[in-house]
Amino acid sequence: MKAEKPFDFATTPGKLPKQVVPTDYAIRIVPNIEKLTFTGTETVKLSVRAPVRELVLNALEIEMASAAIDDKTLPKSAVKIDRKNELVTIALPSELPAGDHNLALSFSGKINQQGQGLFYARYQEQGTVAKKTILGTQFEATDARRLFPCWDEPSFRARFQLTAVVPENWLAISNMPVERETKIDKGKEVRFGTTPPMASYLNVFVAGELDSVETQSGGVQIRVITTKGKAEWGRYALESSTKILQYYNDYFGVPYPLPKLDQIAVPGGFGGAMENWGGITYFESVLLFDPEKSSDNTKHDIFAVVAHEMAHMWFGDLVTMAWWDNLWLNEGFASWMGTKCTAYFNPQWEVWLRKNVPRDPARRVGIAKEQAMEGDARSTTHPVQQPIATEAEASSAFDDITYKKGQSFIRMLESFLGEDVFRDGIRRYIAAHKYSNSTTADLWNALAEASGKPVGEIAASWTEQPGFPVVKVKRGENGVVSLSQERFTVNFRNAPPLQWKIPLTYSVAGQAPTSLLMTNKTAELKNIPADRALKLNVNGTGNYRVEYDGSSWNLLLGSLANLSVEDRVNLLSDAWALVQANRAALSLYLGLVEKLPSSTELAEREQIVNVFDFINRLLIGHPEREKFQGYARSLLRPSFDALGWDPKAGEPANAGNLRASLIAALGDLNDPEIVSGCRERFQKYLANPKSLPPDLRRPMFAVVARYADEATWNKLHELGLKTTSIEEKQNYYDALAGAIDPKLAKKTLPIALTDELPTSRALFLVSKVARQSEHPDIAWAFAAANMKALLAKADALAANSYAPSLFTFFSESARANELKAYAKANLPASSTREVVKAVDEVEFRSEFKQRLTPQLIAWIDNRPSLQ
Ligand SMILES: [Zn+2]
Repeated sequence: MKAEKPFDFATTPGKLPKQVVPTDYAIRIVPNIEKLTFTGTETVKLSVRAPVRELVLNALEIEMASAAIDDKTLPKSAVKIDRKNELVTIALPSELPAGDHNLALSFSGKINQQGQGLFYARYQEQGTVAKKTILGTQFEATDARRLFPCWDEPSFRARFQLTAVVPENWLAISNMPVERETKIDKGKEVRFGTTPPMASYLNVFVAGELDSVETQSGGVQIRVITTKGKAEWGRYALESSTKILQYYNDYFGVPYPLPKLDQIAVPGGFGGAMENWGGITYFESVLLFDPEKSSDNTKHDIFAVVAHEMAHMWFGDLVTMAWWDNLWLNEGFASWMGTKCTAYFNPQWEVWLRKNVPRDPARRVGIAKEQAMEGDARSTTHPVQQPIATEAEASSAFDDITYKKGQSFIRMLESFLGEDVFRDGIRRYIAAHKYSNSTTADLWNALAEASGKPVGEIAASWTEQPGFPVVKVKRGENGVVSLSQERFTVNFRNAPPLQWKIPLTYSVAGQAPTSLLMTNKTAELKNIPADRALKLNVNGTGNYRVEYDGSSWNLLLGSLANLSVEDRVNLLSDAWALVQANRAALSLYLGLVEKLPSSTELAEREQIVNVFDFINRLLIGHPEREKFQGYARSLLRPSFDALGWDPKAGEPANAGNLRASLIAALGDLNDPEIVSGCRERFQKYLANPKSLPPDLRRPMFAVVARYADEATWNKLHELGLKTTSIEEKQNYYDALAGAIDPKLAKKTLPIALTDELPTSRALFLVSKVARQSEHPDIAWAFAAANMKALLAKADALAANSYAPSLFTFFSESARANELKAYAKANLPASSTREVVKAVDEVEFRSEFKQRLTPQLIAWIDNRPSLQ
């Protein structure tokens, strides 16, 4: 492990020479909405630190029209574009001496369909039939260079002043408030205020026929901006933003530094959320809440995403990682902070135990920590901190390890150092690095100063090496329990052995939790009563697995009713992981599930629902699948029967979510009563939409569509076409994707090529068919035949992973070879990592299916009937 150094501009990695530093940009952009092009000019103040003969900066898919240095125009031949490296080199007529200089450029480029650089999205306006256009930008990681030539690396902070020309009836938004609007021929020129020094990727520009709701908090103007007719749906995000802003002002100890904060709902173009300073963009359905139609889960997602993005206003924007190798510092921290803040305001949501990240259209839902550990146990994992050399590597760094292992480690560290000490360390860090950049070492130093503990040393084993440990628990004589650690792996033979410094927590039934820093391979706990249950990893806050010996496990099984729901979910997750890792038989997991009292604990039932869903999909086409489905239903039905179909006054806050989860799960498991109950309610819904509570819409549509005939498919499609709510639209199209009649799967797939869905979502309709319809083969054949058209809708993040991701729904090893061959013939080198990951997933599923099935059938056959 190499020890990382604190931030130092001169030695920060990157392609751009460090002798020339831009300090101020003034940029003017004129979009041509008919032709989907733009022209631009910019002047950049340069601080030249050592004499240079050329300037090197970034540009991509931009035509340069002219260049001048200190008002002297340069010949066209002075400007050389290096497309491959995304660089522009400007040769200077003579050596440019150290000091201040001015660079002036004029250029042109295009407005993209996908969310890269300046993009457009077409959408149907609420309450009208009009098709409208909105412009937006998406620059992270390396796409600001598609709109204007710039020093597009995060440590080249500068002040930006943007001016844009838009139609007169449009609203234009950037990082800072509008300074001046001037009417000009065919529109208006909008001049925005100057930003504080910041990284180029944090610039934003959005414009269209927009509306807003707004409020003030502590001198900051907060707005939620939407397309016309949807502003009221921004109320929930607006109220949430106000609370979150106050919470962060206090937590970080530095008040939000800009005069305004806009949360902008974009109805297409890109699919996520982006923390542009002062002007955060969101895919519409993760920001807008329609009280009549949106579900409780949507509310959770909105709060969590807004809290994540707003954490970046400090952690990412005010203080920015020096280089992309420290992306985890931005994303792991914002994920943790956003979850902490969401849990603080909404303790009843069980956010740490449930999905607490934006729903990724192509991935399974589940607990963030569990998803990170699943990936981190494989041979294809990487350290949280990893070297990044190219733009493509920067894009592929946005993965589960970066976000979710990052947040899990920070959570473990916080619980080890203590909440207050940890916060004091963060305040020191923000105060020391504001308006500047930092590395992970700077954060550890601040936390070490605040805590007096060797944080850097503890952290190194978690962020600089891959993987995580399993702690084995063995009871001995005289109250001694011996612990030993080793690397936990899945489908990874001959993994290099590694060791961690583990901030362990444990509790003996009836006693307060204790902590211990396990620094060696083995450790001992003393005075543990032989007849009492011992639970390690209290409340599951630690990023490690625990493997108990037989007697310890039996004591735990005997005291399940006294454990917290967090501890029970942790035991379920660890038991399932041990089965995957071939460290335990399936009976360990199923024995635990059957020992749990039948309950309506949301997070606990959802863990089981997720595992059953995984097994149910693994068994597609297997003759014993029906037997498993019957068994799974018998375990889940009592929880559903306790809740009933209809919401009741005064039921627990999570009952609606659990009901929805169980209807979806039991429907997938072919429960005849659930299927007919959904069909009945769907008919009532068609006559009277208000008859179906918002929480139940998504699962009911899914169940009805799963077993749909063509007429029902057509009906759902018609409803999807008609609605202008992106969330509602998504519910209908997701349902269509699940139809298991192969004829209908073939009918759903071509919709991905139309503009019925926003571009960023259309792409994933194919992934959904692959996963939900049970026909990954039909989905892949369609994608392979239409790859070019599909990838035209992909952003930088999706471009590398799209084709490989479609294979992860297969569990036959022959498909792994098919993917390798496909990749060799069709995919760029930048996809390699995604291909290797997908191959590993297919091989794992194939092996696991063979191992799991006989155990499963034997378990079901050998148990007394539950009926
Ligand atoms: Zn983020």
